[in-house]
Amino acid sequence: MPTNDSQFTHFKPYDLDTGEEYMCDAHREHFRQILNAWKRQLMEEVDSTIHHLQEEASNFADPSDRASQEEEFSLELRTRDRERKLIRKIDEAVERIDEDEYGFCDACGIEIGIRRLEARPTATLCIDCKTLAEIKEKQLGG
Ligand SMILES: [Zn+2]
Repeated sequence: MPTNDSQFTHFKPYDLDTGEEYMCDAHREHFRQILNAWKRQLMEEVDSTIHHLQEEASNFADPSDRASQEEEFSLELRTRDRERKLIRKIDEAVERIDEDEYGFCDACGIEIGIRRLEARPTATLCIDCKTLAEIKEKQLGG
């Protein structure tokens, strides 16, 4: 799993001093808002990539530019592909909020933690299980 997902940082960190229960309604609402705003931002980026590609495509004046343009295209398409996958992960995270499963580790069931989720709202593993999964992945040769 690539770790260079674009980060969404335009939110106010949750005030943890309120003594609320983990993943109470307020917590879920907090992450729902982060996920929705992040998704909106990604959709806009995907849109602008498509527009950019369309503009460029109608602009093949000089054949010698073609190679570099194609390189640029494939780079943008890869970016778009990554964004699309990320949007799917965001959708899945919102579904987990709806199903009351959000914020708990898929592997061991413990709380993933508000701060970790703010840094990585689509996280499905706690930091320990994530680290373990990465070690296993490396042993399998990536
Ligand atoms: Zn875990």
